[in-house]
Amino acid sequence: MKKFNKIIFVIICSVLFISIPKAETLKSLKEKLARDEANQAALIRKQKEVQNRINAANKEIGNLEKSIEDMEDEIDDLLVQVDELGEEIKRKQNEIAALLSFRQISSGDNVYLEYMFEAKDMEDFIYRGAVVEELTKYNDEQINEMYKMIEEDKKLQDNLKNKIKKSESSIDNLDSKLKQYGVSLADLESAHTDVKADIKARKKTIAYYEKIYKENKCKETMELNACIISGSANKFIRPTTKGTITSEWGYRNCPIHGREIHSGIDIGIPLNTPVYAAATGIVSGITVKSSCGGNIVTINHTIKGVQYRTTYMHLASIKVKMGQKVTTSTVIGKSGGGGYTLKRNGGWDRCSTGAHLHFTIRKGWSGSNSVNPRNFVKFPAKGKSFSGRV
Ligand SMILES: [Zn+2]
Repeated sequence: MKKFNKIIFVIICSVLFISIPKAETLKSLKEKLARDEANQAALIRKQKEVQNRINAANKEIGNLEKSIEDMEDEIDDLLVQVDELGEEIKRKQNEIAALLSFRQISSGDNVYLEYMFEAKDMEDFIYRGAVVEELTKYNDEQINEMYKMIEEDKKLQDNLKNKIKKSESSIDNLDSKLKQYGVSLADLESAHTDVKADIKARKKTIAYYEKIYKENKCKETMELNACIISGSANKFIRPTTKGTITSEWGYRNCPIHGREIHSGIDIGIPLNTPVYAAATGIVSGITVKSSCGGNIVTINHTIKGVQYRTTYMHLASIKVKMGQKVTTSTVIGKSGGGGYTLKRNGGWDRCSTGAHLHFTIRKGWSGSNSVNPRNFVKFPAKGKSFSGRV
């Protein structure tokens, strides 16, 4: 994970911590939906406005962002250099240690004297003298070289520290510029959702909750958690048996939307790869052919008494139904995100560049409080592949 992202994650996390939602009831979900449905047109308008502000901000801060990216690259290069130099220093230390122990074994400089006195004649003696001189010089040179390397290492480390500090202040600068344009981090996360598809999916979720409330004879003002007994699990595991991490959760520059908060982690997998539930739970949301996200499955979980929601986006097909209880061995759908699900190929999903699964973990059973999936599931570094579900 790049330093830049780490810093941004800290910013996002501090925002998320203050916005964790209150416990929802069926009544509050219905009221929110009714409000959003009545204001659908206004919501879409507002979304466009926010997008315009993001675009305007993007133009002005393009340079700043470029310089942050350059700095990140420089920091990466420096990290590699520091690593390589560290290895070289270690090698050099071993070499010197070997030379010194050889000298000790052969009782100090006696080995050289013995070698000198074994000379057959004057000419040989002079020759051997030169050899001894060369050998001791070699010893000194090795030690000098090591000192030089250590000094260089110190310089590199200082340079690295400065670069990191500089990039941190540039990111602060970027953040305050965004604020000048009235763009908040929450705007970045919600700017690209399909309002209509979202409302449709929420209706389905509410219909499902209504059924359960009726069955369990709960009042609408009762908390969801209290009325709905969801499958409880103790942890999340990877939703696929293999894949490659192609994009991190958090702030990023999206090839399609520009600046955004990426609500999940992207796992590159071939089209139609089985996708499993990341933990035991109950299917609480199904969105079909959303213009942004394609087929989407959402599952409610209770992990160690805390409510979470996982979302699986860009699916080519869905294999579960609303209200279905799932375990980590349930195939909830087959992956899409590329090929025929792509809008430019005549599909429906405009928010995807290639075949992958977008995997989100949110706190709570409603709201958009995504958290970094890495805090719950073990994934390799970006660009690296994994196999097995842990
Ligand atoms: Zn994604």
